[in-house]
Amino acid sequence: MGLSVAYELTKNGYKPEIIEADDCLGGMAASFDFANQRIERYYHFHCTGDFTYKNLLKELGLEKQLNWKKTKMGFFFNGKLYEWGSVFSVLKFPAISFFSRLRYLLHALRCLIINDWKHLDKIKATKWLKKWLGKKSYRILWEKLFEYKFFNYSDEISAAWIWSRIKRLGKSRHLLKETLGYLNGGSEKFIQAIETRIRNSGGIVYLNSKVKSITPRKKGGGTIDFGRGEIFYDEIISTIPLPLIGKIFKNGGVKENIYISYLNCKSIACVCVILQLSKPVSKNFWININDNRFKIPGLIEMSNLRPLSGHIVYIPFYMPTQNDDFNRDNDDFIKDAWDCLKEINNELDDKDLLNSYCNRYLFAQPICHTNFKKGSPNENPFRGIYTSDTTSYYPDDRGISESIEYGIKLANAIINTSA
Ligand SMILES: Cc1cc2nc3c(=O)[nH]c(=O)nc-3n(C[C@H](O)[C@H](O)[C@H](O)COP(=O)(O)OP(=O)(O)OC[C@H]3O[C@@H](n4cnc5c(N)ncnc54)[C@H](O)[C@@H]3O)c2cc1C
Repeated sequence: MGLSVAYELTKNGYKPEIIEADDCLGGMAASFDFANQRIERYYHFHCTGDFTYKNLLKELGLEKQLNWKKTKMGFFFNGKLYEWGSVFSVLKFPAISFFSRLRYLLHALRCLIINDWKHLDKIKATKWLKKWLGKKSYRILWEKLFEYKFFNYSDEISAAWIWSRIKRLGKSRHLLKETLGYLNGGSEKFIQAIETRIRNSGGIVYLNSKVKSITPRKKGGGTIDFGRGEIFYDEIISTIPLPLIGKIFKNGGVKENIYISYLNCKSIACVCVILQLSKPVSKNFWININDNRFKIPGLIEMSNLRPLSGHIVYIPFYMPTQNDDFNRDNDDFIKDAWDCLKEINNELDDKDLLNSYCNRYLFAQPICHTNFKKGSPNENPFRGIYTSDTTSYYPDDRGISESIEYGIKLANAIINTSA
């Protein structure tokens, strides 16, 4: 989002400065070296409806690097891997009654045709799904996904948020097939291209530069401390996770009633295991999991979408950082992930595990509760200071295309206000 804001500003003649805490750009979409290849820290796929992303790739001359592939989905339940995701696979799924399967499909269809989501903002996702699917289907198909993604927050998530997720994916699926996209070279290619455009237009990028404080100035803008002394900027646009702004404002002497609203924003972490295997787990791109032995809501077999060296599988463990489990060693998570894969495909043997790694992101998934915008921080709390993150485009879930789109809108709104 920050890169998108900066790029849009340069297109309008501004020379923005990007302040990034990490040693590389890209945030959740950044890449790293794994098993002799560059790979994303967290898996990324694109949906056919990601129009803003597609438009930006075109602008950057990368549209031919975007590939589309028919992908498959599976569901691991009661020790068995079922086909999932297509109409036929749902109609064949034996663990729920035929009537329940029809209810499931009807709900998926309804999600596609709902446009006005305001009423869903007030309803709990769990209650809404139980009502539409029935309690048994909910328990089998959704309960573990909520439990192992949101833990104690499961019952707080709004129906609008889950509806938007179902709809985004539903638009990438047709009756029988799911089509997903990947970029040759991964998100890094796109991040590098946008960085080059920004730098070539006079923009500046500071890496390894964690913002410690922002002190607003009455007349507008404010000073930022990011390890080079206090530097004044007339417009400050923050795109870091909102909960982090609380401390930054507090350090900058901002009043408690303002910085508290940021500290109250909740998010959960992701401990994401990546395994390189000598053979595939399955033919699926992703597998939903409902198995009491593993606290894993699903896995992503990335190399069934994007060609990579070896068979690459991402296994995300989402959890609030307050969970005791969060303090477990990376090796423990890797072991759990590998044990789970061996259960799904019992032809896998320890010699098939070639490489493993574990990334952690503290603010991986915001908690989008009911009545979400009520009590949310003001996105323009001071003159010339703007704060946004992936929750700014609620009810849509975090996504690359969505963050880019919001960044473009934000930049233009600021340009128009300051003109
Ligand atoms: C496991 C996982 C899977 C995902 N899968 C997909 C997918 O398949 N498809 C898809 O479209 N999206 C996916 N996403 C979401 C996608 O990665 C994000 O929506 C997108 O990258 C959000 O970008 P952003 O710039 O809004 O936020 P972020 O990526 O969170 O960027 C925030 C930036 O702020 C920096 N920062 C934080 N604190 C400071 C500070 N104090 N000073 C300076 N800088 C700071 C961070 O280092 C980071 O670079 C996934 C995310 C995760 C975690």
